Amino acid sequence: MQPLRVYSVVPRLPSQLKELWDLAYNYLFVWNSDIASIFSTIDQVLWRDCQQNPVKFLNSLPQQQLEELAKDDFFVQRLKEAAKVQRSYLAREGCAYKFDGAKKGEPVVAYFSLEYGIGLSLPIYSGGLGILAGDHLKSASDLNIPLIGVGLCYQHGYFRQYMTQDGWQQERYPSHDFEEMSIKVAKDKNGKDVKFNFDMKGETLHVKVWQVEVGRVTLYLLDTNVPENSVSFRGITARLYGGDLEMRLWQEILLGIGGVKALDALGLEPSVIHMNEGHSAFAGLERIRVFMTEHGLSFEAAMEMVASSSIFTTHTPVPAGNDRFPAELMRPYFEPYAQTMGLAYKVFLSLGREDPRDDAEQFCMTVLALKLSRFNNGVSKLHGHVSRNMWQKVWPQYPVEDVPIGAITNGVHMPTWVATDFSLLFDRYLGPNWREDPDCAKVWRQTDNIPDAELWRTHERLRERLVDFVRKRLRRQLMNIGARRKEIELADEVLDPRALTIGFARRFATYKRAGLLLKDKERLLKIISDSRQPVQFIFAGKAHPQDNEGKKLIQDLIQFCRREECRMSLVFLEDYDMKIANYMVQGCDIWLNTPRRPLEACGTSGMKAMANGVLQFSTPDGWWDEAYLPDNSLGWAIGRGEDYNDHEYQDFVESQTLYKVLENDIIPEFYDRGHGSLPRSWIAKVKKALRILGPEFNANRMVEDYTEKAYQPAYSNYATMHKNEFQGAKELAAWRMEVMTKWSSLKVRNIRSETHTDVYVEEPIIITAEIFLNGLTTDNVQVEIYAGPVGQDGKFARRNTVVMTPEEDMGGGWHVYQGEVMPHEAGRFGYTVRILPKHELLLDPHSLGLIHWAQ
Ligand SMILES: *Cc1c(COP(=O)(O)O)cnc(C)c1O
Repeated sequence: MQPLRVYSVVPRLPSQLKELWDLAYNYLFVWNSDIASIFSTIDQVLWRDCQQNPVKFLNSLPQQQLEELAKDDFFVQRLKEAAKVQRSYLAREGCAYKFDGAKKGEPVVAYFSLEYGIGLSLPIYSGGLGILAGDHLKSASDLNIPLIGVGLCYQHGYFRQYMTQDGWQQERYPSHDFEEMSIKVAKDKNGKDVKFNFDMKGETLHVKVWQVEVGRVTLYLLDTNVPENSVSFRGITARLYGGDLEMRLWQEILLGIGGVKALDALGLEPSVIHMNEGHSAFAGLERIRVFMTEHGLSFEAAMEMVASSSIFTTHTPVPAGNDRFPAELMRPYFEPYAQTMGLAYKVFLSLGREDPRDDAEQFCMTVLALKLSRFNNGVSKLHGHVSRNMWQKVWPQYPVEDVPIGAITNGVHMPTWVATDFSLLFDRYLGPNWREDPDCAKVWRQTDNIPDAELWRTHERLRERLVDFVRKRLRRQLMNIGARRKEIELADEVLDPRALTIGFARRFATYKRAGLLLKDKERLLKIISDSRQPVQFIFAGKAHPQDNEGKKLIQDLIQFCRREECRMSLVFLEDYDMKIANYMVQGCDIWLNTPRRPLEACGTSGMKAMANGVLQFSTPDGWWDEAYLPDNSLGWAIGRGEDYNDHEYQDFVESQTLYKVLENDIIPEFYDRGHGSLPRSWIAKVKKALRILGPEFNANRMVEDYTEKAYQPAYSNYATMHKNEFQGAKELAAWRMEVMTKWSSLKVRNIRSETHTDVYVEEPIIITAEIFLNGLTTDNVQVEIYAGPVGQDGKFARRNTVVMTPEEDMGGGWHVYQGEVMPHEAGRFGYTVRILPKHELLLDPHSLGLIHWAQ
């Protein structure tokens, strides 16, 4: 029997406790322990059972308990103080970054992402990408950047993992009750619920908008599960990464096109769009369409507007991991859409193709995003390099170093991930600035002031807490699969709170090589069975529901963990999420990561561990490639980033290294105890890692990098091009058209250098060239010398570019240019000359993809 109608019954909070609602409806409690402790002191067990969901928690408290609390003066006083903390955080003004002309309180940047990891009780994330997006919003809030988020509100979120008796992953999709979560229906300026609809394949799609407060940042979530929609459309926001390819297309249309429409329905006009991964690239298209239909811009002018005010961050270093859709699948959705922009479908498709003329190529969201943004970046230095190679075809004729994809390395939101015990230590010895200003090197230099004994005691307490958590979880897991009583009782004894504890938690994607540690099981068994120097491992992670290979890896691992000789020191925890991540990154001694280089774009779990004094043991991939020191004084690397063609051989070599470093370096160093039983040299490493890596790998530094390098220039581009009825955009588009038509007839001749064949180190070479500009002016182009040492293969080994200056107008469109280079080392040295377009509104001369090389 189904009820006819359902109401949410909310508790009647006594007036003294009213402010609990304010605390409950802002996720600030996730990174402010003064606020979180208000909930946990009321009822710790209930708080845990409610998955730290404050709304559900308050709804679950018996009325009588609330009445009693209201009479508890001490509690009421604490609540008042916490509410004051929240109010003053929200009211704080001032931002170190200026957006001249932006209206106060109005968003400048809209951040688009398919997933967000904000807190345990908002399960709309699957892993690293979502957590990163959540950390981005939190740091933007702390820094007071005028930013909002746009995402989807999934009825079932990502799957929850549980295991069968023989260790095979099963998925379940619990349903979320939004009424019982810290989210509210979004209202427009007149206080009305925000709703909108648009046409999708001839059918109307109705969308409802929710809003979540993340400190000072608002996250808007789109929801299609409304009665007006057909059953299939209602399912668009059912599951994160669920369904087939067409479902993914629907979700991305909703996020990109729907997201831009939602901003309009909300009455918001952010100037800058940040696309986190290619999923949201349709947002750029929709903005182009709006500029064309509502402001009468040409496609070219609208495209200039959008590209110069968009930021795109790519995350996927494997070609197969980038979303691609067949042209035929897209046709019913985008042929009519392209028409409204005056584009033939084939021309439209070329926006998503590496080679615009290749009709067989699928439409790639990453390519679309790269073409619709002038600020493209990978998420670590190494990943930037990999991405430039991977997408070189989008910029034909470009040397790989000039492919316009830069790098902004990810970071983690420190106050979210640092354990409370550790943050007290930081407060005491680093001062409260580590929260406000975590990218300040001076703050972290004070790590040296923390007494060794105090640091180690704090760390050991966190390890004990982790062991306790693992035992309870394991007990529950064993009960769920109906294990024997003796086995369940043993769960209370697994692991040793004093033993060297190694954590490995991540998605079980093949490239993460969870099996590397198990390559030589005998050797591993020997390592864990030395009772004088005990070593233990904790594992966690999900495999994608369709990834049977990943599931097999988990199964092998679980079966190994259950072996008689292993079960006391190896544990697999089911259902990896933010809570497990929290315990693990705070309580382990070593954070193990074994990706196959260079397939880890960045990785952030290791940074969370670093911030809690946990040392890394990882392949030099992603962030660790730019963080580790070859002398291992910040943690250990597996290999030195060698290139291998044979994967099997690589796995063999790297697993050998893994065991060797464990046996010879890590274990002895951990157990090298001096006075007071302290591992002095280990502690020195921990401190050095905090001192050197702390100021770099945090989300404040990351958001500041985005703000300085992308948001601010993109904003000022937008403002300039928007002025006087889009005068700038029209000018730039017209200029671009002119440059493009004249480009192919540019010529370079008579390149001369005034030297003999022998040149000397540090002796300048003056180079002149005659350039035919075909009617373009010297203001329209930048002529460069491209010079450097030449390798064995006759190619440039490295290169340097020098801008040449126009010296003389020869008439007939010809100009003399001159410049000077200087070889800094002996050996073969070469140079050539090239022409790039130049315009004051064009920030990066490479972004148009036009380049002319001297033949
Ligand atoms: C931090 C985090 C991740 C990302 O970790 P990687 O190092 O990128 O694998 C994934 N899942 C959860 C729950 C996390 O907290």
